[in-house]
Amino acid sequence: MLAARVHPGKNVFSLEDIPVPEIGPGEVLVKVNAVGLSRGLISVWLFTDMIKLLPATLGHEIAGVVAATGAGVTRFTAGDRVHVYAPLGCLTPECAPCAAGNESACPSFAMIGYALFQPAGLPGYERYHDGGMAEFVRVPEANLDRLADGVSFAAGCKLATAAISWKAVSVARSSAPGGTLLVTGASGANGSLAVACGRLAGFDRVVAVAAHRASLAPLGRMFPDVTMIATEELDTGWEKKGHLTQALREAVGGVDAIVDFMPIGPAVAAQCVPVLNRGGRAVLMAGNPSLVELSYLDIMTRNLSVSGCPHATRSDVRRTAQLVADGELGVDQFITHRFGLPDVQQAMNTIMLRNGSPALVVLDVAANGTGSGAQPANTERGLTMANTDAAGVVTAPSGAADQQDRNKAIVRRFVEEIINGGDLGAVVDEIFHHEYLEGNYPLDGHSGPEVVRTWVPYLRWVYPDVRHEILDLVAEGDTVMCRSIQTGTPRGFFEGKSKAVPDDQREQRRMEINMLRLKEGKICEHWGPFSRRLDDHVEGEGLGAGMAQAHEAWSAAQAGPAEDTAAENTAAETPATDTPATEAKPEGEPGMNTPQEVFDDMISTLTANPDRTEGLTATYQYTVHGEHGGMWTLAIDDGKAELQPGTADAPDVKINIDEADLLGMARGEFTGTEAFMTGKLRVEGNPVLGMQLGRILG
Ligand SMILES: [Zn+2]
Repeated sequence: MLAARVHPGKNVFSLEDIPVPEIGPGEVLVKVNAVGLSRGLISVWLFTDMIKLLPATLGHEIAGVVAATGAGVTRFTAGDRVHVYAPLGCLTPECAPCAAGNESACPSFAMIGYALFQPAGLPGYERYHDGGMAEFVRVPEANLDRLADGVSFAAGCKLATAAISWKAVSVARSSAPGGTLLVTGASGANGSLAVACGRLAGFDRVVAVAAHRASLAPLGRMFPDVTMIATEELDTGWEKKGHLTQALREAVGGVDAIVDFMPIGPAVAAQCVPVLNRGGRAVLMAGNPSLVELSYLDIMTRNLSVSGCPHATRSDVRRTAQLVADGELGVDQFITHRFGLPDVQQAMNTIMLRNGSPALVVLDVAANGTGSGAQPANTERGLTMANTDAAGVVTAPSGAADQQDRNKAIVRRFVEEIINGGDLGAVVDEIFHHEYLEGNYPLDGHSGPEVVRTWVPYLRWVYPDVRHEILDLVAEGDTVMCRSIQTGTPRGFFEGKSKAVPDDQREQRRMEINMLRLKEGKICEHWGPFSRRLDDHVEGEGLGAGMAQAHEAWSAAQAGPAEDTAAENTAAETPATDTPATEAKPEGEPGMNTPQEVFDDMISTLTANPDRTEGLTATYQYTVHGEHGGMWTLAIDDGKAELQPGTADAPDVKINIDEADLLGMARGEFTGTEAFMTGKLRVEGNPVLGMQLGRILG
């Protein structure tokens, strides 16, 4: 049977032909019709170690038809339509959580096709870790429920997701009927389902908050009476100025309940809770890692409740299934994307990039084998992405126009459409060569445009708001150098070392230099980024503290006496990635006061470290301007380095620098990268080879 498998160390799905699982007593073989794919599952796979047994077939949101039953199965026969309840517990009579259908609280909690959450759950997980991204799946009879005839398989596989929204709204419901429900993160899967559940749960009025107006639009068409607030329309700095609180008060006065599905940042939750009416309740659902500041006195004196609600129970799922079967809650309308099983990688990229505002994403397994790509599931999908107009602005010159200008235009499209805009569609195949090699991410020999579809989603996941502003594009031969400033806020829980940094100080600015080589009008090689933080926190233990400590150690070594062994050791331990080895000499050492002496030192460093130049063959011609200036040629040939006075016949790289700057660099006043970025050091020719020289000298 066809299955989408995941393997250790790989971050892409692998389509494989594997045997149909065998079933034993009490087990049911389900022919999968639809399986859900969600951000949560992908994140657990890529960023945690909770998927203990690999390779595995993922997929915990499953609906299909019973194909065969094992001995002792009494509730189902072949042909029954079913949906899978994925949580596995110990199921012993004395386990209170299991008896209550709340397996997530059981000490043996695991999930079919998902992960092992409690070590004691290993035996069950071993048997059922293969999930629904395959033509068949093996499931215990106890984990199946019948799917009502009128409910689609696609909706059926998402019943557990809908149940989480229903559960959250139910928990937020106070005893009095009526009132106003506020849903945040309302454009996402759970948020939009929670909006739909609001009226069902007895609220008179629903307010929806999301980041973008465009992503709220489909919800607005489904529920015209819902009040909607897009935080992008608030004044700049709203996160710190309480503007969301103000906007909510102006729009609805107060609210009686909040269901929070906003996954990032403290501002939304912090500004919604003050809008709660006396006795109101906020239910936090989004797995948001932020520290949220709330007023103690406000919670106490106005009798507010703030609670969590991590999982839906079996009875929540059954109650939700009934609402769907009765036609009260429509799940199909929130399915934004459907893919065949062979297109699972495309489905994953769509989710990670939020391409077309994905809410619920479903793989139609029964319709697989065509590889036909994404099927528009809902006419509301495909909302305008931030940079769509950039594609129109940047058009490559045509005809006899300079190839280098065309190459630069291609690199600009890569930055603006793919990195900034997140477009992983046809543009990737259009501008990336089939031999494309990514120098930055080791991907087990993967090459070609698909690699872009792997690492770009990763970058955009780590920095959900990532943005590159291009400062320079320099082209020479078939190479383009791009200097840009990257801004972005890394996910708090992702950078384990930076937990001490407050959320509002997390945004990073970074100067980057990336090198791209083009072939046949497409990008075939990428090296970089060579980067430097522009906003280091030099105090405390936050981001950049490591660099601050390195600078401190370096200064101490510089200040100390040359014969001070301890200081020398400190200098030797200082990370020297930014610092050419020629600088790791105390100031005033003989032989560092003229360009000739700097070059002599450089050649002795390279001769002493032949491994640095292994595999590199290039000729560098230096022109030094000044009193002791002149021209030198550095020839590197796979482990050997030679210096000659004068010019070279055909240098790969020409380097121009003033004598004072060369000496300043040698004295460690600034790095080669800084010299390059500030124009002190000018490079002509192949910029990749230029950067490689910087690296081997560093
Ligand atoms: Zn249990």
